Amino acid sequence: MSSDTCIWCLQHADGNGEEHIIPEALGCPPGFVLPGTVVCRKCNNGFADLDSAVIDEFDFQVLMAGIPRKKRRPPVIRSRGNVVGTIEEDGPAISFNMNPVPITAHDGSRLAPYRGSRRDIRATFTHDENLSRISFDAPFGQNQKFLRGITKIAFSSLAYFLSVQLARSPTFFSIRGFVKHGEGDRHVLISSSDDNHYFNCVWPPYISCSGSYIVTFRLASVEFLVDLSEEESYIRKIQAAAQECFGEKNWCILPLET
Ligand SMILES: [Zn+2]
Repeated sequence: MSSDTCIWCLQHADGNGEEHIIPEALGCPPGFVLPGTVVCRKCNNGFADLDSAVIDEFDFQVLMAGIPRKKRRPPVIRSRGNVVGTIEEDGPAISFNMNPVPITAHDGSRLAPYRGSRRDIRATFTHDENLSRISFDAPFGQNQKFLRGITKIAFSSLAYFLSVQLARSPTFFSIRGFVKHGEGDRHVLISSSDDNHYFNCVWPPYISCSGSYIVTFRLASVEFLVDLSEEESYIRKIQAAAQECFGEKNWCILPLET
């Protein structure tokens, strides 16, 4: 196979552009990219919605950490119907609309009512004497595009750390099918880190005793483990021994079994 073959479509990659392994809007470490001879432009462009699906899930963390988007623009929350978040002079500001009618948000924009759609947030407000509190739950990672985006980060990291030639091998047929076309069912193990810091890191992949390539990484305060083998035997093994491995730590395997 030639030295300018795309690891995703296995077609000629003309060398234009580069792919950020972690989406820029999450704060990709400098130089953590694959060149245009490794990821073709067509595949790179086609992945935009997978990147968005990953970025969307971290919107609150990105805003609070002040991670700039592309072209150094400040972070915002605008992909949730009843929530808007912006960076104001004195720091991050978030408006929630729990009313049945639109309201004007802190930045003057019109904010839709709570409708209970997938991205809406149900917030509760409480007041003590001197303290106002907002609490809410935001579901995390409950859609396939997110899992495809996470699997893409894992596979790109394999190419980056181990070998581009390895990433072009037929072994990863099912990974390509899942990431590119959503084919098959694949899983991702997630756990929340012990600290709440915003920190991105990919550790060099390793090989499990049964020969699977395993990639672990952290985005914001969430840690991921992706088993790149066809059978995902390592993830299943971990699942069986999870209590021992992770103790009290919060962990789960996505997608959740229903
Ligand atoms: Zn391609």
